[in-house]
Amino acid sequence: MRVSQLFNKTLKEDPAEAEIISHSLLIRSGMIRKLAPGVFSYLPLGWRVLNKISNIIREEMIRAGFQELMMPIIQPKELWEQSGRWFVYGKELIRFKDRHGREYCLSPTHEEVITTLVKNEIKSYKDLPLNLYQIQNKYRDEVRPRFGLIRSREFLMKDGYSFNRNEESLNQTYEEMYDAYSRIFTRCGLNFRAVEADSGAIGGASSHEFMVLADTGEAALTYCQSCDYSANMEMATHEKRNYENGIERIIEKVKTPDKKSINDVSQFIGISSDLMLKSLVYKASYEGNEKLICIVVRGNREVNEIKLKNAVNAIDISLADNEEVLNATKTSIGFIGPIGLDDIDIYVDEEVMDVKNGATGALEEDYHYIGVNPKRDFPSKCIIGDFHNVDEIDLCPKCSGQLNFKRGTEVGQVFKLGKKYSEKLDCKFLDEKGENQHVTMGCYGIGVGRTMAASVEQNNDDKGIIWPKAIAPYHVIIIPVNVKNKEIVEIAEDLYKKLLKEDIEVILDDTDERAGVKFANADLIGYPIKIVIGSKTLENKTVDFKIRANGEELLVPLEESIEKIKSILL
Ligand code: ATP
Ligand code: MG
Repeated sequence: MRVSQLFNKTLKEDPAEAEIISHSLLIRSGMIRKLAPGVFSYLPLGWRVLNKISNIIREEMIRAGFQELMMPIIQPKELWEQSGRWFVYGKELIRFKDRHGREYCLSPTHEEVITTLVKNEIKSYKDLPLNLYQIQNKYRDEVRPRFGLIRSREFLMKDGYSFNRNEESLNQTYEEMYDAYSRIFTRCGLNFRAVEADSGAIGGASSHEFMVLADTGEAALTYCQSCDYSANMEMATHEKRNYENGIERIIEKVKTPDKKSINDVSQFIGISSDLMLKSLVYKASYEGNEKLICIVVRGNREVNEIKLKNAVNAIDISLADNEEVLNATKTSIGFIGPIGLDDIDIYVDEEVMDVKNGATGALEEDYHYIGVNPKRDFPSKCIIGDFHNVDEIDLCPKCSGQLNFKRGTEVGQVFKLGKKYSEKLDCKFLDEKGENQHVTMGCYGIGVGRTMAASVEQNNDDKGIIWPKAIAPYHVIIIPVNVKNKEIVEIAEDLYKKLLKEDIEVILDDTDERAGVKFANADLIGYPIKIVIGSKTLENKTVDFKIRANGEELLVPLEESIEKIKSILL
C-alpha cells in the first residue's frame, strides 16, 4: 500500500468528546470515525487491525474445536419471550416493528437463535458436543455510550456457544475456552487477568471475565499477591474477619436528635463505626412490579449491589428515596433499622451477625437502639448472606495473602449456562439409554472492537499508538525523506517492491509531505518498524530503522534490510 492512495487522514487535536486515550488515538490516527453516539465506521487501517484480532480469535477457536457460522441480527420477539428476556433485557434491547406490525429486536447476543437452530438439527448424544461461533455486529442501546469502541452501541463481537451432553463435558469445553482466551489475549499483546465474575443478564452458574488492566477500566477487580485468586468486585470474597467480642448488654432506645449519618451517630453514642448497623432501603424491580427491601451491613462496609440484586432475584435494584422510605416505614432514612420492620424483607450481611452491642436506627424519628446483639435482637425472618464489598483491610479467601485492587476493562467472558436456555427453548437430545434430555450449554464472548481499544489503552506514548506486532495494521513503513530526490525515491521504491515480494506487510509513504509530518503520522498510527531512506542511504548505502515499541534506532546496510525486518518481526 502507498500512503498517497490510503484512505487515511490523521488529526492533530484530541477530539473534544474523547475521555480516554484509546478513543482519542483511534480517531486521531484515522482508524475510526463516529457516525452517531456509540456507532462508528472502521476505516481501512482500523479495519485491518480488527481483522487481525478476528483472525487470531478464529485460529484459536478452530484449535479448540469450534466451527464458524453466521446467524441473523434481526430476531423475532417470540423467541425472546420464550426465553423470558424480552422484558429482562429492558431498554438495552433495540426493538422495532416491520410493516406488518410484527415485533423484532436487533441482537445483543445470540443464545435464543442458536439454541433454536441447534434444537432442530441435533438428535442424539452422538451429535454432541457441538461447538459453534460467529464474529458479527451486536446491538445494545447502552445508557451511556462512551470511550469510543469500549462502550459502543453497535460493536463487533465473537460469540461462541457449546452444546454438551452433561456438566462434565461442559466443564471440559469451558476449560478449553478459558485456555483459548488466554492464548488470544496473550497473542494480542495484552496485560490481562481472568477473574471470577457475576453472570449478569446472560445467566448461568459460573463465569469468568477476562480483564485488561487499565486505570480507565470501568470494572473494579481484586487479586491476591500470593496465589492465583482473582475476582471481579461484584463477586469477590475475603478471609473471615474476627471482630472484637464482648459481653452482651441489654438493648436500649436512646434519643439521637438529628444524628443521621453513621459518623454522627457513632460519635454521639461513643462506639466505633464497625459496630453501627447501617440499614438501607432499596427498591427491587421485577417483571411488572417493584418492592422495597431493607439491607443491613456494618457501618464500615459498603453494600455490594450485585450480590444483593442476585440474592433478591430482581432485574434491578436502586436505593429508595426518602419519600418512598417514609411511606413504607413512617420513619425517615437516618433512623431505619430492622427491629420491628414487619412488612419488608430484611437482608442482613453475615458480618453483622457477629456484632456485639452495636447500634441501629429504632424505626422512630430521632431514636436509635444501642446494645444491639443481632443474633438475639433481629427478627428471625432476616435473610443472611454476603452482601458487602471487599476492601483494603481484607485478606485473600484462599491463602490469607494480601489483596491488590485494580481497575480493568472486560474484553471477554465465558459462562457456564447449564440448562437455562435449553429448557426454556426446549433443546433436547436422546441419551445412550434412549431418554430425552436437555442439553447443557456454555457461551463465550469477546468484544473485538473493545479488545482493539484496550490494546491502544495499554500500548501508547505521547507520540501515538504502539501496536503489538500481531495486530498492527502494517508491519513496516518506508519513508523516503525527500521525494524530489530521484535516487532516494528509486531506492525506496525498490525496497518497497522487494518487501512486497517477501510478503512483508509494508506501506510506502510516497507523499510529498515534509519528513517531519511523515514521521509524526507514522508514530501516531503506530507501525512497529519505520525505515528512513535519506542522505545516509545515498552516502553509504545504509538505512535508519526505528523501532516503535522501544524507540531503538538501528543503522542497517540497505542490502541487509529484509533479513533485519524478518528477524525483528519473528
Ligand atoms: P459490560 O459489562 O461491559 O456491559 P457485558 O458483560 O454486558 O459487558 P457480554 O454480554 O459479556 O458483555 O459480551 C461479551 C463481550 O462483548 C464483552 O466481554 C465485551 O468485550 C464486549 N462488549 C459488551 N458490551 C459492549 C459494548 N457496549 N461495546 C463494545 N463491546 C462490548
Ligand atoms: Mg460480560
